[in-house]
Amino acid sequence: MTGIKTSSESVHIVGAGLAGSEAAWQVAHAGVRVILHEMRPGRMTEAHRTDGLAELVCSNSFRSDDAVNNAVGLLHAEMRRLGSLIMRAADANQVPAGGALAVDRDGFSAAVTRALDDHPLIEIQRAEIDGLPPADWRNVIVATGPLTSAPLAAAIREITDEDALAFFDAIAPIVHRDSIDMSAAWFQSRYDKVGPGGTGADYINCPMTREQYDGFVDALMAGEKTDFKDWETNTPYFDGCLPIEVMAERGRETLRHGPMKPVGLTNPHDPTVKAYAIVQLRQDNIPGLENAEFARLGGLHRNTFLNSPKLLDAQLRLRAEPRLRFAGQMTGCEGYVESASIGLMAGLYAAADARSAALAPPPATTALGSLLGHITGGHIETIDAGQRSFQPMNINFGLFPPLASPPTKKPDGTRLRGNDKTIAKKQAMSARALSDLDRWIADSLHVAAAA
Ligand SMILES: Cc1cc2nc3c(=O)[nH]c(=O)nc-3n(C[C@H](O)[C@H](O)[C@H](O)COP(=O)(O)OP(=O)(O)OC[C@H]3O[C@@H](n4cnc5c(N)ncnc54)[C@H](O)[C@@H]3O)c2cc1C
Repeated sequence: MTGIKTSSESVHIVGAGLAGSEAAWQVAHAGVRVILHEMRPGRMTEAHRTDGLAELVCSNSFRSDDAVNNAVGLLHAEMRRLGSLIMRAADANQVPAGGALAVDRDGFSAAVTRALDDHPLIEIQRAEIDGLPPADWRNVIVATGPLTSAPLAAAIREITDEDALAFFDAIAPIVHRDSIDMSAAWFQSRYDKVGPGGTGADYINCPMTREQYDGFVDALMAGEKTDFKDWETNTPYFDGCLPIEVMAERGRETLRHGPMKPVGLTNPHDPTVKAYAIVQLRQDNIPGLENAEFARLGGLHRNTFLNSPKLLDAQLRLRAEPRLRFAGQMTGCEGYVESASIGLMAGLYAAADARSAALAPPPATTALGSLLGHITGGHIETIDAGQRSFQPMNINFGLFPPLASPPTKKPDGTRLRGNDKTIAKKQAMSARALSDLDRWIADSLHVAAAA
């Protein structure tokens, strides 16, 4: 990086997980001193097992490494171009996993720990920050993750004025529109209600016969379930958003009289037959969804995260106290790679602040820009309208702005259709992202993009 100058102002980073480790690397790489505070091993979280930095608490996968067709693969590529330590350590500790990037977790964490330990501008302090960071820390990144220790979580709750930062949350799946079979499904709002901002045909409805409903409920009840760990048993469900299997356990007809009720809807493909139940949820045998492609699967986990669109500014600073910047899963992204990528951006912003320099945001067309847009702009609010609508998200092409002129033809001049069209769109979005990122790096960071 050219134009480096050292600064006497240190950046304090709290939490040396995926996000905090990447943030520390970026800040130090910009020539600014870092003090990295990690509470392990003195105090452990409920999921971490080691004292290593950037410990992977569950799977060892960074998911797809395909930068051409897959949004998380694209995020990998963008991070590599920005000199990411997390990606460098992952690449160096790769284990065979087909098209995915999976790592030897111990080697990966050891590589990150060593790189940060060895950096002359980084000091690692092993202690819990058990309240708001001291007032004389003027440039702070809080990256304490979904399992933030209780005293710090309480202090954050107090200054953000939010009732709850953690709950078991059921996350709705997201299905690619193109992949739904509209010869079985149809658009209609219940009772054709137009509502504020609607058209009367705002939902995609997938009908079920009695047999299909019974099969669905049986499969749901028989499905494999995750056991709660001890520390999870006291965390409540977010009751506006119960997992579907929890509802089904309350009675065979509960779903049919609840979210899957078939009233106020008429199937234009078969108007005289009343559906027994109607769903918009994933099951391989739900008519219309056999070939559905999912941008996000439904899920359930304990999570501590901020209502970021309301609380954070575009540079991830707490509006109420801008010396505090947030990064990682706490900001409402989901996943190892996404957490590290937001750490990367928080690091770049904090380093720019320390050097009294301005940093333009990454283009909205990039994976980094799209994810930041979701976090600080709350893109999803328009989809999940209602209370507490901001939900953690993996990176996916649904977060990217649409293409100005989507591809319509194959190289041989024939028309693109169905799946080919979706693939061509993703590829065009990826190409646009990388070329816009390179321009941003050259203009804003004065770094020669890696080949
Ligand atoms: C149980 C569980 C399983 C998950 N499994 C996966 C998975 O398989 N794949 C995936 O992609 N994502 C998974 N995630 C989601 C997410 O990607 C990870 O949690 C990821 O580690 C988040 O990165 P982070 O940097 O935000 O937080 P972390 O990596 O958790 O880092 C936070 C760090 O802050 C430290 N800390 C906390 N409080 C304090 C404090 N007060 N003072 C000092 N240090 C503190 C912690 O010790 C930790 O080292 C999982 C999450 C959980 C909770």
